[in-house]
Parts: sequence; structure tokens; C-alpha cells
Amino acid sequence: MEAGYRGRFAPSPTGPLHFGSLFTALAGYLEARSRGGQWHLRIEDLDTPRCTPGAADAILRTLERFGLHWDGEVVYQSRRREIYEAAIAKLQRDGRLYPCHCSRKALEPTGPVYPGHCRGKSIDLSRPHALRIRVDPAPIVFHDRLQGRQVWRLTEQCGDFVVRRRDGIHAYQLAVVIDDAELGVTEVLRGSDLLDSTARQIHLQRCLGLATPAYCHIPVLVDRSGCKLSKQTGAPAVDGRDPGPVLFALLQRLRQNPPAELRRAPPGTVLDWAVGHWHLERLPPRTRTVIMAENPDPLEERPP
Ligand code: GLU
Ligand code: ZN
Repeated sequence: MEAGYRGRFAPSPTGPLHFGSLFTALAGYLEARSRGGQWHLRIEDLDTPRCTPGAADAILRTLERFGLHWDGEVVYQSRRREIYEAAIAKLQRDGRLYPCHCSRKALEPTGPVYPGHCRGKSIDLSRPHALRIRVDPAPIVFHDRLQGRQVWRLTEQCGDFVVRRRDGIHAYQLAVVIDDAELGVTEVLRGSDLLDSTARQIHLQRCLGLATPAYCHIPVLVDRSGCKLSKQTGAPAVDGRDPGPVLFALLQRLRQNPPAELRRAPPGTVLDWAVGHWHLERLPPRTRTVIMAENPDPLEERPP
């Protein structure tokens, strides 16, 4: 037992919960509970144009139905804008930010790395502008519990990146770092699709004087053609009417080998078993995806 463990689940309320996010939620819940730690819930509703009304409540209800009870109050990012703005002000005072007028269209031909057009230019601040943070060429090195040693160079990956968009919305990268620090998160456990955000987040932690938590990027569930199960790919919403068998199937994909007699058990029974038998290390190392086949049994994964 390790009383200090604190994890979190941070869904974006762009639609109802689908299997991909339930898979991540379940892994995070089991990791926290099996270590006698806490598990918090944060609704990432900053990008208001992409949020669906009612989706946040639907996500909370689905988690409850599956018995995935969280600790403390739910954190809503949309209520925390002043806190993010204070961090922006600090970064600005420290000379780490600069305004950028470049439109998405203008940047398209240059690819994913911002070429630094607006770095060191004096810019008309009365026009709408994004704020970017400077990055440097030194590699960011971190250890991921499942994905292993990571070496990322922000100058090659993305260049100076946006911390506040031109429409005034704070970037996910900024908000997540502040919120995880404030919650005292000791380990960020999430889908491997966010592995490539981690170096940006560590850069921000360093600039803001915040501790870096441990990281664990678990495989994401994909369909047979290798597409991530997500709202964008039209994955079906999780059906909460019969949660036990769904938990059972997800535990199989998490490689926890649940005994067959649990297949039809109620969710509380399945979860109790899972907390007692959970070993995250049964997930394959350095693997980015796990297939969610229609036929629940054979587990297959694809190389990263
Ligand atoms: N809100 C993000 C998502 O739904 C997750 C952020 C995180 O876990 O850091 O993909
Ligand atoms: Zn620019």
C-alpha cells in the first residue's frame, strides 16, 4: 500500500463515453485503488466549441454505473480560466511567451513544426493573436512505465507551441499541467495517443516551477482496421445497461485474465476481483494499441 498515490481521469465532454475512454478510466481506477490511492475526475471542457451539452453529466453517470467512483469534487476546467490566466501572466513576466498572428492556413505548408515567424517580431497586439511559448533544442528525457525511456526534442516535434489560442481559449497543454499539479497527481495514466504531448507538458512544468509526475501511457483500444475507438471514428457509446460483462471484456483486453465465472457477475463483484488482482505490468510493454475485436476473446495487439 502506498497512501500517497493520486491518479486522475480527464475526459473531454465532446460526446458520451465510448469503449476507448472506459478502457483508460478502468485502468486508471484499478491502478489507484490497488495501490490504496485516490482517483480524481476532471472534465476537460475548455474547448467549448467542441463540447456537447449534457455530455459531461452523461459521462459521470456512465462511470457511476460501471462502479468507477472517484474521489473528491469533479474539477471543471471551464471554471478555472483565471487560474490559467495567472500562469500565462507568470510566463509572460518571465519572457517565455510571444504573440503570434499566423493563421492556421499560413502555417499549413510548413508542417507540424512552427517555424518561429513571429519570434522576436514586434506585433500589433490590438489584432487577435495566439500566445506561444519558446522551446529550446535540449532534449526532454523521461521514463514512461509502459513505453520505456523517451527522448523528445520540441524544436523538431512542434517548435514554439500555443498556450493560449487566438480565440482566447487556453491550450490543453497548459491547463493539464496546472490542474495535475494542483490535484497533486503523482502519476498521469492515460492513453498512448497522448505520449507525444508529454514533452510539451514537462517543458511547461519546468517553466512554471511545478513537479513532474510519473507517466504511464497505456495502449489505446483500436478497431480491426487500427483506428482508435473514439467519438471521431464513430465508436458507439458505452451501453450502461449491463455493465458487468463490459467490465469483464475490458479486463480481458487489459490482460488481467478474469476467471470465467465473473463473465456474468455484477460490476461491483468484477471490480472487487480486479482491484485485488490488478497488475498493470501484464499489459504489453512498448505497445501503443490493443484491438477491441467484436469477438471478445483473442487478444491481439499491433506493433507501435
Ligand atoms: N482530455 C484528454 C482526452 O480526452 C485527456 C487528457 C489527459 O489525460 O491528459 O483525450
Ligand atoms: Zn506566428
